[in-house]
Amino acid sequence: MSSFDRRSFLRAVSTLAVIGSSELFLTKGVLAAGADMTPPPDLFDPSLVDLTFWLQPRTLYMVRPQSGERLKLTYWKDGNINHDAYAQICELLRDVQASIVYRMDTQLIDTLWAAQAFVRRYGIDAPIEITSGYRCPATNAKLIERGLPAARNSLHMRGQAADFRLNGLNTRVLGELVQGFRAGGVGFYFRVGAKGGWIHADTGPEREWHG
Ligand SMILES: [Zn+2]
Repeated sequence: MSSFDRRSFLRAVSTLAVIGSSELFLTKGVLAAGADMTPPPDLFDPSLVDLTFWLQPRTLYMVRPQSGERLKLTYWKDGNINHDAYAQICELLRDVQASIVYRMDTQLIDTLWAAQAFVRRYGIDAPIEITSGYRCPATNAKLIERGLPAARNSLHMRGQAADFRLNGLNTRVLGELVQGFRAGGVGFYFRVGAKGGWIHADTGPEREWHG
């Protein structure tokens, strides 16, 4: 077992749960209330995720509006990562401006997948819309110069962070869902407008901020 697989497996075991999770989810009304609901605080408790969830094939559906790219592929199955699929995911998550592909943290990819797979169980089958993936230091510095939200030591520069939205979930619901996986930091970027906000997820220490 590679370290990646072992980590995923250990995480799966540590979140091993709980019978009747879908009833709990549905009776709390997430579908009935739609995208603007306020979730109850424990709605996205990681105990809602069971071992079967982590052991299913991991198919990720993503779009990159900046480049017009789209992919839907299975990058992990039966304990093995598909290296070709992984390479395509890294390509989509590249620094589009600088045309640099980076070796993205597989745990970050798992977080994106888990958020999508979790809500797919409840009928939300939208692509993860990536607004930022890898950033080379020059691209990151340009964002800071332009006054856009970017940290000087951003984990985007280490392939450990992505900014994204998921159509059908508002920023708060998506962010709290990702926090439920306890995989790292989550930034909430609330914005008004047709596209709405986005969240930042990374594989650094667990923390939360609003930007
Ligand atoms: Zn970010």
